[in-house]
Amino acid sequence: MKTPAYAAQAGDQPLAFHAIERRAPGPRDVAIDIAHCGVCHSDLHTARGEWPGTLYPCVPGHEIVGSVTAIGKDVKKFKVGQHVGVGCLVGSCGHCGSCKEGLENYCENGFVGTYNGPASAAEGGHTFGGYSTHIVVDEGFVLHIRHQGNLAAVAPLLCAGITTYSPLKHWKAGPGKTVGIVGLGGLGHMGVKLAHAMGARVALFTTSPGKEADAKRLGADDVVISKDAKQMAKYANRFDLIVNTVAAPHNLDVFLNLLKRDGTMCLVGAPASPHPSTQVFNLIFKRRALAGSLIGGIPETQEMLDFCAERGIVSDIETIAMNQINTAYERMLRSDVRYRFVIDMQSLKQEAQAR
Ligand code: NAP
Ligand code: ZN
Repeated sequence: MKTPAYAAQAGDQPLAFHAIERRAPGPRDVAIDIAHCGVCHSDLHTARGEWPGTLYPCVPGHEIVGSVTAIGKDVKKFKVGQHVGVGCLVGSCGHCGSCKEGLENYCENGFVGTYNGPASAAEGGHTFGGYSTHIVVDEGFVLHIRHQGNLAAVAPLLCAGITTYSPLKHWKAGPGKTVGIVGLGGLGHMGVKLAHAMGARVALFTTSPGKEADAKRLGADDVVISKDAKQMAKYANRFDLIVNTVAAPHNLDVFLNLLKRDGTMCLVGAPASPHPSTQVFNLIFKRRALAGSLIGGIPETQEMLDFCAERGIVSDIETIAMNQINTAYERMLRSDVRYRFVIDMQSLKQEAQAR
């Protein structure tokens, strides 16, 4: 089916209208009318070819929410009309150790990304993401959305939400634990909300003095300007876990110094070029760990969505029209996002009709 989308045709080209082909739903497929799609910094890294391996045309978008319009004959979990979500994954091998544990994000044979992944043999080419009006996805990679209303603000949970929830759960953020979140962007603001909801004491580290009041409102107990060495010194040796969401290379030692003995800093930010190497002494003298984490598996993504639905947790968003995406990318690079752009896909449907 011909489907309106927005694509980058090359790394140095802005995104623009581009029609793509979506497959007819197979027996296990769910066809989705996309209502909203969040804008992740990974979309920008990929569209601009900042990470190796971008395939063009590139249609980004992996924070997808919408309604089911059709289901294949073998689909059991979904019905037409239901609200559903799709995150960063649309396929995996299904039989490796990680897949069997519900960790499709760590599939040992390579997961299929919602965009820039290998498309099915029948389709050929590569997958196209959520900057489009419709998508067809295997039911194993479709999530139930149980929030009442405000679907637009649920969209960012599909990547920013799960990417912070997963390390917070893995390293047991909760009552009695002190958690630091570095960077108040899309991922960071969800990290603050989720760590607070899990019952941890939360500090937000930011380079933007103007974000202090917001961070407190979102659930931070402390807000620290990370460029201020005096402020940072007060927080030395205090944290059990730090989740670092920064999208640019920076000095990691200033944050490693804040960990207690046996504390962990988990990197989720994925800059295009490497961070400067850390001081080994900062690690060995306190048995500190430097770790990483990639989104989350499908069962944990559903768990996170339900955790948020029960507590009324959504993202703080600014809704944009599809044709504002290039300006939104520029603002994201200036850390001028409060705190996630979400595309209203009605705008793309109208643009397609007017053509
Ligand atoms: P974002 O909305 O742009 O937020 C990043 C934040 O980092 C900014 O708001 C800013 O916060 C801070 N920052 C930016 N440049 C900085 C610099 N030079 N020095 C220090 N701080 C800086 O981006 P996002 O969508 O949250 O994504 C963040 C990163 O995570 C990206 O690299 C993205 O690709 C990656 N990511 C990884 C995964 C995963 O599975 N691991 C999943 C999704 C995204 P302040 O203004 O508060 O300083
Ligand atoms: Zn993302």
